[in-house]
Amino acid sequence: MGGYGSGRTSSNIKAESCRSLEVNHLKRQGCLEAGRAGKWTWSRDGEVVAQIGFRTDEAQIVLDYRVRLYGGDWEAVTQYVPLVRIACNFGGQRPYFCCPGIVNGQSCGHRVGKLFAGGRYFLCRHCYSVAYGSQSEDRHDRMLRRANKLRMALGGEPGTAHFIASKPKGMWWRTYNRKRLEIEWCEDQATRAFIRKYSHLLSLDDSATLFETGAE
Ligand SMILES: [Zn+2]
Repeated sequence: MGGYGSGRTSSNIKAESCRSLEVNHLKRQGCLEAGRAGKWTWSRDGEVVAQIGFRTDEAQIVLDYRVRLYGGDWEAVTQYVPLVRIACNFGGQRPYFCCPGIVNGQSCGHRVGKLFAGGRYFLCRHCYSVAYGSQSEDRHDRMLRRANKLRMALGGEPGTAHFIASKPKGMWWRTYNRKRLEIEWCEDQATRAFIRKYSHLLSLDDSATLFETGAE
């Protein structure tokens, strides 16, 4: 039984190689400021393998791209992703995507930090689980449950959309830091498990390639 910190998994699909959009990454690059527009690229071995156009306003980020699925024709897609900004305990705001997915007739709306491109649209992991998931609990769920238990034991709320609670009074810093690390490790493992499970949809398969639309 590997504990946290026991090193990288042997998965050959790295989180970084997926076509995913990470809200924090976009924020760091200034792409979530209203009025920003440009393109977002994915690279492999230093070469751009996919790119999409985006523009941001107060309430949303609009993704503009063309997609070709399984050798079919190129399709133009415009996807509107609402943004929510949640005030932090420690000041400032933290942005989230509001998942625009509609799966089995249900709109998703989960507040998430990450969207994955596994087909025509960028969707959150909940959508993939609903659309393709099995009923049985898998490693992904177990890891998230473990992380949530630890989060709540520290007095925080479950779910990666929340901050990890600050150190409870009377707890050693060393203990607290170890628990934080464990939470982060579990959540990272959950993401990796998710990516492994859906690698057939998320891998860099050239049968589904994204490009930006012609307009700059
Ligand atoms: Zn979703």
